[in-house]
Amino acid sequence: MNRMPQIKTSRPTHPGLKGDTKEIQKKLLRWFAEYQRPLPWRQTYDPYQVWISEIMLQQTQVKIALPYFDRWMKALPTIHAVAQADEQTVLKLWEGLGYYSRVRNLQKAARVIVDEHGSVFPSRYEDILKLPGIGKYTAGAIASIAFNQEKPIVDGNIIRLMARLLDYRENTRKPEALNVFWEKAQEWIPKGEARNFNQSMMEFGALLCTPKAPACGQCPLQRNCGAFKAGTVEQLPNRGRATERVDLKVAVAIIQRLNKIFIQKRTAKGLMQGLWEFPGGKVEVGESTVEALHREIKEELGITVTAVTPFLQLKHAYTKYVVDLHCFTAEYEEGEVQLTAASEHQWVELEELSQFPFPAANTKIIDALVRAKSTPALF
Ligand code: SF4
Repeated sequence: MNRMPQIKTSRPTHPGLKGDTKEIQKKLLRWFAEYQRPLPWRQTYDPYQVWISEIMLQQTQVKIALPYFDRWMKALPTIHAVAQADEQTVLKLWEGLGYYSRVRNLQKAARVIVDEHGSVFPSRYEDILKLPGIGKYTAGAIASIAFNQEKPIVDGNIIRLMARLLDYRENTRKPEALNVFWEKAQEWIPKGEARNFNQSMMEFGALLCTPKAPACGQCPLQRNCGAFKAGTVEQLPNRGRATERVDLKVAVAIIQRLNKIFIQKRTAKGLMQGLWEFPGGKVEVGESTVEALHREIKEELGITVTAVTPFLQLKHAYTKYVVDLHCFTAEYEEGEVQLTAASEHQWVELEELSQFPFPAANTKIIDALVRAKSTPALF
């Protein structure tokens, strides 16, 4: 059996592609022309649409982002509409995509575009880069994809493809590695073809040169691929040690009172600010989930609850956290609501919950509540 060679991270330099660059450019462009997915923003390359797609696609796969993109464009067809929308509307349109600072910055940027650029998305790279929520990657993506400017982009798909083509064995998370990729990404753009070339690299990484089981057998770049020749495909990219995962156990309550449910709005600080949620919190060491629930409700709401009953348990992952979420139904018992961890609260009917933006885990709870409504034991 052939054994994969061990990655030697001490290898001083990557071999580079030398004469292969032109061939790679041609092959990628040809492949993209034939196999690119018909994504809605590719119909006109309207800068507003490209911008929204790029922000949505940060941390989100294309197939998940597509219905969001569609809903967004129907609700907010122009930059002006984004600038004028209220925060709850944009949060609701983003509900489930996570990383909510993205959408808040997006709205700030829309307001800058309206105020400083006459509602027209700026085409100068320097102006794009100055917009809130837009860093080097997104500015390069918009400049190249919307305006066909020769600006590079380097994302996870591109890093993987380049690391394999170059047989680059160093840790790709290190700044010096990123410098290599940014430099190469700039160098490789064929004149006048930035839009298609940058997208071809992203698309190729997403569809063919995938993290697991890349399609090397059907790959037009096989002959040019350093990792394929060296037998290191499965070990690349070298991403160093994975970020530490943090496990959390959390208890939340669906508190009912006179057929209404308690929800609260998160404060304007910290993660997922401005979204609504069911109250609850972390289960401390030595505490049962029910004990944690009573404590959290008392601490955060100043009320007591009774008839606490397990309703749903689910696992939910976000950033480095993996949450074991224990959800209970409970009846309001006594006390006046005094919030310590939220900015406002409401008692709402089950049918009204869909009008509020919630984080992803809470949305799953709401779905389960709606399904359970047909069960007479609840509500
Ligand atoms: Fe990626 Fe395999 Fe093609 Fe190399 S040969 S570019 S590893 S799909």
